Amino acid sequence: MTCLNGKKRVMGKALTSGVRSKLSIQKQRQRLPVYKLKKDLIQAVHDNQVIVVVGETGSGKTTQMLQYLAEAGYTTRGIVGCTQPRRVAAISVAKRVAQEVGCRLGEEVGYAIRFEDHTGPDTVIKYMTDGKLLREIMFDENLSQYSVIMLDEAHERTINTDVLFGLLKQLTKRRPDFRLIVTSATLNAEKFSKYFCNCQILTIPEREHEVKVIHVNPPERCDLDNALTKVLQIHLTEPKGDILLFLTGQEEIKYACRELNKRMKKLGEEGVAGLIILPVYGALPSEMQSRIFDPAPPGKRKVVVATNIAEASLTIDGIFYVIDPGFAKQHMYDPERGLDSLKVTRISQASAKQRTGRAGRTGPGICYRLYSETFYNEMSPTSIPEIQRINLASTALQMKAMGINDLLSFDFMDPPSPQALISSLEQLHSLGALDAEGLLTKLGSKMAEFPLDPPLSKMLLAGVYLSCSEEIITIISMIQTGNIFYRPSEEEEQEEADQKRAQFLHPEGDHLTLLAVYEAWKANNFSAPWCFENFVQPRSLRRVQDLGIVSAGKNSTIVRRAIAAGFFFHAAKKDPQAGGYRTILQNQQVYIHPSSALYHIQPDWVVYQGLFLTNNEYCMHEITVIDPKWLAEFAPRSFKTADSFKMSKRKRQDKQKYI
Ligand code: ADP
Ligand code: MG
Repeated sequence: MTCLNGKKRVMGKALTSGVRSKLSIQKQRQRLPVYKLKKDLIQAVHDNQVIVVVGETGSGKTTQMLQYLAEAGYTTRGIVGCTQPRRVAAISVAKRVAQEVGCRLGEEVGYAIRFEDHTGPDTVIKYMTDGKLLREIMFDENLSQYSVIMLDEAHERTINTDVLFGLLKQLTKRRPDFRLIVTSATLNAEKFSKYFCNCQILTIPEREHEVKVIHVNPPERCDLDNALTKVLQIHLTEPKGDILLFLTGQEEIKYACRELNKRMKKLGEEGVAGLIILPVYGALPSEMQSRIFDPAPPGKRKVVVATNIAEASLTIDGIFYVIDPGFAKQHMYDPERGLDSLKVTRISQASAKQRTGRAGRTGPGICYRLYSETFYNEMSPTSIPEIQRINLASTALQMKAMGINDLLSFDFMDPPSPQALISSLEQLHSLGALDAEGLLTKLGSKMAEFPLDPPLSKMLLAGVYLSCSEEIITIISMIQTGNIFYRPSEEEEQEEADQKRAQFLHPEGDHLTLLAVYEAWKANNFSAPWCFENFVQPRSLRRVQDLGIVSAGKNSTIVRRAIAAGFFFHAAKKDPQAGGYRTILQNQQVYIHPSSALYHIQPDWVVYQGLFLTNNEYCMHEITVIDPKWLAEFAPRSFKTADSFKMSKRKRQDKQKYI
């Protein structure tokens, strides 16, 4: 029995069920490439404050290394923590490690992500998102409960990991007993080592099999269709082995799975069967996610259709064929125009190589790249770190709340452009979170306490002030949970689903639509059958409920005012000549996304929460109808030139309470 606390403990149920399963798990652990390095690793952590560990995906870094450290005694004086860029990975890995250790999740092994803490008093191995650790360090700059932190998947270069690099580097100077491990799946370890004062690099010996790369030059359009055809071609003609197809996002993946099911049904009439189709994306319910690890039954083949989460964060054994269309969805921020959007972009060569490697885990495999070799050569060698391409407002606010005032001279591995930083600070200033000197205001420090984007925190505080906090909390929870409406795969059913959805559409926008759905569910006693009848996801609604909310549902105008208090800088006005809208601050042409409740209404003034960029057109999503007067009220500085509105003195005083 592994004894992680250094004290005797009652055996977890998982292992009392059978010694055989334990043996096989221990054998599996010993077969991982990292096992050979166990002693060296423990020694290196003992001798150095910071080390970098490089190893191919699947070598056992994430699941094994914390267990080694626990066995070596690092959990007697604190806990060992490991960050993941993605929630799904944090959960999935924690589950696996709990199983290996033989405890229930939340006992010795636990995880914590935003809004969800599955750790307990006995937890000594803790997996969490990098965002979660960043919040913890905001409240305890010495991270005093941790003896070791492993910044995992550092090559992903998420903004949170990048900020943690700087903060933990400082922490090692304050706490000589603290240990930091930085892991990376690819060979950019030199750069990491250099940043951490030329620290030692440990490389886990490779065990990957050869993967043949085939560039399939597709006809000009419709990459998705090509990809699906390729899946079926492999299924029909190639020897056994599972398939991994990379797509860009949830909607595309769902569509692809529906299409594949349809095509397989047709082929079924000709006697072709045996393809198990499994979607994987961040918001997928976790029971579904664990199914991807189950081996396909004999005679069958599975195809996993995934976002780039399967590029490095999750390792699925048994993949022999990878199909890489060469795209991924990325957040992009244009500081010049202040536009934030989610955009489908070409991946980097590093990503392409990583995807290729996924086919060589179990044996020699094949990677089909749905682009030409020339195209590959023109791709950028590495991906741009998130910190250099997204809106920095949220991170800047957190750093300010930690007392880091001079962001421009913070020790970033790759600093963001001053322009992007300034644009984000301006946004925080307009939200009232920073004063004219760029120092945190009282409102700003309140906003930083919520694990939400600044506009949402502001909206929440405005909701409290306007006495509609329950509605606003419900709306925010619905937004954060996402995935509220269910769209079935059968076309006939889709029509019914759309009709049901139409009943909820609120003439004043998508936020009130979300509120209406929740209230209708509540009026029906939170019934699950009601959800199925109305094509609403019961699981999502239950999560919203779990976040602790009861909503009263009254005056929608004040709710919209609170929404506008958070999102006034995303205001847009109808532009009848151009057939769309113009944003007020950037004068950018935008449109209403077809999924919006307002698509057929096209009101004069709106605020939106986000933009999708497709075919060079910006589409607003999550939109609410506003009164333009509110804009001047919330942000007189920004909207001096917008439809003029003189505030009365009383109103101005009023406003200062929450702005
Ligand atoms: P690395 O971090 O080096 O990429 P991991 O520690 O994540 O490697 O994975 C090591 C092994 O554990 C892999 O072979 C993987 O298939 C297996 N594994 C990881 N997570 C799970 C899980 N949730 N269920 C089953 N097996 C898993
Ligand atoms: Mg890993």
